[in-house]
Amino acid sequence: MIAGAGPVGLTAAANLVRNGVPVTVLEAGSDLSTESRASTFHPPTLDMLDALGAAKPLIAHGLTAPKFQYRTMRHGVLAQFDFGAIADATAHPYRLQCEQSRLTRILYEQLNGQPGFQLAFNSAVEQVGQDENGVTITIERDGKTETQTGRYLIGADGARSDVRRSLGIDFEGFTWPDRFLVISTPFDFCRAIEGLAPVSYVADPQRWRFLLQIPGLWRVMFPVSPDENDEAALTPAFAQSLMATIVPGLSDYEIAHTTLYRVHQRVAKTMRLGRSFLIGDAAHINNPLGGMGMNGGIHDAINLTTRLADAWHGRSPDSELDLFDRERRLVTLEYIQQYTIQNKRNLESDGIAFKATLEAIAADPQRTRDYLMRVSMIASLARARELGAGP
Ligand SMILES: Cc1cc2nc3c(=O)[nH]c(=O)nc-3n(C[C@H](O)[C@H](O)[C@H](O)COP(=O)(O)OP(=O)(O)OC[C@H]3O[C@@H](n4cnc5c(N)ncnc54)[C@H](O)[C@@H]3O)c2cc1C
Repeated sequence: MIAGAGPVGLTAAANLVRNGVPVTVLEAGSDLSTESRASTFHPPTLDMLDALGAAKPLIAHGLTAPKFQYRTMRHGVLAQFDFGAIADATAHPYRLQCEQSRLTRILYEQLNGQPGFQLAFNSAVEQVGQDENGVTITIERDGKTETQTGRYLIGADGARSDVRRSLGIDFEGFTWPDRFLVISTPFDFCRAIEGLAPVSYVADPQRWRFLLQIPGLWRVMFPVSPDENDEAALTPAFAQSLMATIVPGLSDYEIAHTTLYRVHQRVAKTMRLGRSFLIGDAAHINNPLGGMGMNGGIHDAINLTTRLADAWHGRSPDSELDLFDRERRLVTLEYIQQYTIQNKRNLESDGIAFKATLEAIAADPQRTRDYLMRVSMIASLARARELGAGP
């Protein structure tokens, strides 16, 4: 049983069904979410989705971005990197910019009607009980409470996970005092900023920003200080005042959406308890600088479900499932949490030390390669494999 039909829960379902394991997905919503959230797919995530037959249709809907850059207003481009330098390590040497809601639809269309796959909407998992043979969950469905039993449960029910709460697993970490405001516009910044890459981070101590191109839109993310209340931060005038700082002399942008949200850095105390597992946002959340939240969740889903399929078919003992928690939780702490926190600190700086660091990396092909392996998350997956092979 899988709680949650987000990108992570449906990836887990797809890999289980592909490996001959029957799955029931329970989704609280009445349909798949249409929310505008993650829009970056990293190279190894695309490699994994390719094995599920989902990368090609996703790429057809997205924008491929081999290059990304760091800037300041004062210095212009500090450094630009090209994933082409690690083309030997991935079949997809670029970031794909595409809304996560495309992936959930592609996966659902592929799974729907397949033997062994069921998805029930309007079905919120509320309580979890388990013993050595299986898991029993309580589901709230159309105002009624029902129970369902399965051999294993995967909680992929997002940051406020009911599965995590019901299992009593702590979600340790902190919440940043500032919130992030994402503003989308159809204005093409390439027309106004020379040499702009489709993914561009701009460091600034007061108003760092992050510009990201998706098909038909640019998304710009700004920090909002705790002094500004939510209501004021969501006014069109506030959005326009931030947008006016991007290109001197340009203002009054057409604005398609604005989203204001709180940002946390939290990791579940454990990602396995008995026959229940946590993956994706239910297991860890981080700031979106580096685009690692959903990607890390998809990596959890593939790691766990590959092991679960082996356990299901009797190819490996139950103890092998502990390696999922060991590998994915440590990698989340060592890579995803550290990298996203460092990314935020770099963008909040005046850019001087950051410039020197980036220039040194860009000048040295081996350091550039190591850097791209980390940014693309390939290094985190290699580290996970190393942890699994350990004593
Ligand atoms: C503005 C924004 C931008 C982001 N940008 C990026 C990015 O560029 N790259 C990146 O990697 N990440 C990004 N993220 C993070 C990314 O959106 C999440 O990491 C991703 O959605 C996690 O997927 P998930 O499937 O774990 O959880 P979710 O997408 O939250 O899906 C959880 C699902 O579970 C359902 N559910 C909830 N409770 C229950 C229940 N009790 N029972 C059954 N179902 C339940 C929900 O309805 C939902 O469908 C961004 C987030 C935001 C807010």
